[in-house]
Amino acid sequence: MTTLFISDLHLEESRPDITDAFFAFLKNRAMGVERLYILGDFFEAWIGDDEKTPLQEQVAGALKALADSGTDIFLMHGNRDFLIGEDFCHRAGATLLDDPTVVDLYGTPTLLMHGDSLCTADEEYQKFRANMRNPQMQKMMLARPLEDRQKMARQLRDMSMAKNQGKAEAIMDVTPEEVVREIEAHGVQRLIHGHTHRPAIHELEANGKGARRVVLGDWDENVWWLTVEPGQEPELHKEPL
Ligand code: MN
Repeated sequence: MTTLFISDLHLEESRPDITDAFFAFLKNRAMGVERLYILGDFFEAWIGDDEKTPLQEQVAGALKALADSGTDIFLMHGNRDFLIGEDFCHRAGATLLDDPTVVDLYGTPTLLMHGDSLCTADEEYQKFRANMRNPQMQKMMLARPLEDRQKMARQLRDMSMAKNQGKAEAIMDVTPEEVVREIEAHGVQRLIHGHTHRPAIHELEANGKGARRVVLGDWDENVWWLTVEPGQEPELHKEPL
């Protein structure tokens, strides 16, 4: 029995190497596993389930094949693909998860997050996030013509790249106190998240006991994945992309 975690693939047309690596991963690593969790920023951008690009359709089809073969697939929003909806999930055979969610992993309650909400030092981003996650705002955005949304997405991306270049390293990472606060608020001893592109397994203290924070890796230069098996600690793996 194995559960796999991945995040931050940032799938996009201009990186067919990542898409190919993902299809190879499904075939060689995910086939036959019990569960696959994708913890956000699966796609570099998402402007609505109605876009249905060839890349999106191919990815949905590959996930659906895995789901049909018996693997349960769970998808969480990231800060780039937070508009993924039930329609895409249905086509992919995946279940959409709230951020945060606590799941039972072979007897260990584990908190799952994308990770952007933990980066509280970046106040400007947190304001933007609150705005973008507002259901009313999302409804308004999704009601705009596809072409308008495509233009908006390009602008947002350029803005975010320009802004992040000037930001200090520390404010792009999680706030340690916020990590402990979330772990304690959910009464767990293990957190798995992505977003920061700093793959590692951190030991910390929460609820007066030892706790673990597992950070998934992004798929820019390497394929990163996490395996969780009964009676074993989670293990991070990578191979060159
Ligand atoms: Mn992210």
